[in-house]
Amino acid sequence: MFLENKNSRIQQIHFSEIENSGVSLFIKREDELHPFISGNKYRKLKYNLAEAAKQQKSTLLTFGGAYSNHIAAAAAAGFAYNFKTIGIIRGDELANNLEETIQINPTLKFASEHQMKFEFVSRSAYRNKTEPEFIASLKEKFGDFYLVPEGGTNNFAVKGCEEILTEEDAKYNVICCAVGTGGTISGIINSLKNHQKAIGFPALKGDFLQHEINKYILKTENWSLNTNYHFGGYAKVSEELIIFINKFKRETKIPLDPVYTGKMMFGIVDLIKKGFFEKGNKILAIHTGGLQGIEGMNQLLEKKNLAQIV
Ligand SMILES: *Cc1c(COP(=O)(O)O)cnc(C)c1O
Repeated sequence: MFLENKNSRIQQIHFSEIENSGVSLFIKREDELHPFISGNKYRKLKYNLAEAAKQQKSTLLTFGGAYSNHIAAAAAAGFAYNFKTIGIIRGDELANNLEETIQINPTLKFASEHQMKFEFVSRSAYRNKTEPEFIASLKEKFGDFYLVPEGGTNNFAVKGCEEILTEEDAKYNVICCAVGTGGTISGIINSLKNHQKAIGFPALKGDFLQHEINKYILKTENWSLNTNYHFGGYAKVSEELIIFINKFKRETKIPLDPVYTGKMMFGIVDLIKKGFFEKGNKILAIHTGGLQGIEGMNQLLEKKNLAQIV
């Protein structure tokens, strides 16, 4: 087995904005599972690596944006377990000056240092990433590979994410999780106890997620999505969000990323303040990782003359 089954620690959160709310909030530190294959990406890659080995594939090919947590994790996992890795990256303009791109972009630099080879494609070509003709053209170009979908989400990923919650976690009655492609929350939903419910906080706009999640889950009840905390869309941030992330870290010592977990935690705290959860509720938020993305986001914030994530 490549990535062994691990359990991450749980901390209680003491945060001034929700003191005396009557609700207790905990966080499961999946971000600490591995230094480079962080958070939910560890869970999502685990059975995919096993499957790739079973199929005797020596190359992993996957897709992502230029700051993608999944790209970083896939490169690190391939490097650690002797798979070649190919990253199909959104944005063909990045290939214009490849050396500079890799020097400047911390995610691509990290992936490149872990031997990932890149293929930069236009945004329109990237949209075809699940089309058989596109995949066939990639096979022609790169030879045989094991395909890991964008964000790592497939049935193997969901199976890995079913290992996030353990028997001891039955004492929490609400489980909260950031949502991108929906694979992680699908695994969580499948492992919920009957007295538990899951709330997902999508990090991007769009109504496709309900449908995506329904492809992977066995239960239809006990879960919902709260779509009020995407902050304008994927990787979009506001000054208010950055201030929140910094304040949360100052008080709790827990770092949050700006794309996923920061938005989720902002949402949870806001809902607690608004009295959404009944007193006595025990909420478990999943820290899905993503901290490698802070550096790249800080570069963007600096360009826009906005406050940094510290
Ligand atoms: C990828 C990612 C997510 C989203 O996971 P999905 O399974 O795509 O919904 C959430 N949080 C972090 C930190 C991530 O990197």
